[in-house]
Amino acid sequence: MKNALSVDVEEWFCGHILQKGLDEKGWEAQGLRALKVTRKLLRILERHKTKATFFMLGWLVERIPELIIEIEEAGHEIGIHGYAHVSITEMTPEEFEEDLVKALNITKTFAKSKIYGFRAPHFTITKKTLWALETLTKHGLKYDSSVFPLSFHPDYGIDDSNLSIYKITPRMIEVPLSVIDILGKRVPCSGGGYFRVYPYGLTKYLLTRCNREGRPIVFYLHPWELDPDQPRIHIPFYNKIRHYYNLDKVEYRLNRLLEDFSFSTIKEVIGL
Ligand SMILES: [Zn+2]
Repeated sequence: MKNALSVDVEEWFCGHILQKGLDEKGWEAQGLRALKVTRKLLRILERHKTKATFFMLGWLVERIPELIIEIEEAGHEIGIHGYAHVSITEMTPEEFEEDLVKALNITKTFAKSKIYGFRAPHFTITKKTLWALETLTKHGLKYDSSVFPLSFHPDYGIDDSNLSIYKITPRMIEVPLSVIDILGKRVPCSGGGYFRVYPYGLTKYLLTRCNREGRPIVFYLHPWELDPDQPRIHIPFYNKIRHYYNLDKVEYRLNRLLEDFSFSTIKEVIGL
């Protein structure tokens, strides 16, 4: 089965759990590392002859447009990850539209191919922000890949949402992050922190089950997860585990994942 591989292209300091740990100079004072680690990821994908969807953060594209050029030259799909990496749950509809338009404008300046997809910062398409889907349609987007169909996470999730790809509105396809239902409990197995925390064998078992249930895997990672040498931001212990745990194992695990499963872009998986 063809599965969907996605990358949220942002810097090592963009995650919302890191923001309180940054000094008042904020993002502008930090060194940029995304180009180097994205190139590393592109080499890994090339080795496995795998294509992926790269959801670009507008703020970063503005500073490193080469990212889009190199990702597209390697044959991958470009999507949108917002401009300033603000959760939709923290924005008004007007603020969201402004952020989206800014991200689209900067991305379209450098991208050659058509842009279809959106991934919300911190997966924040929730029951409270379903209004944002109409805004995505208004600006020409065809699919959203932001819904985590689970209930336990404090920042994201729609507990009773469909596990398969479906039409979330008449004109918007939803490509939810992969979750397996085990005895009525929804267990995420779709990448990011889950990929770093679970032993690889568990990830493989859950993803195999996803395919056996007839669903393509929808997997995600970030370039900074392939950068174990990134500077550490001082944050509370629990968040440290979420953000920095097993960074040194991601490259090895990703190579195994790409050997064990067949991946492509979201656009191809949903037939756009
Ligand atoms: Zn993000």
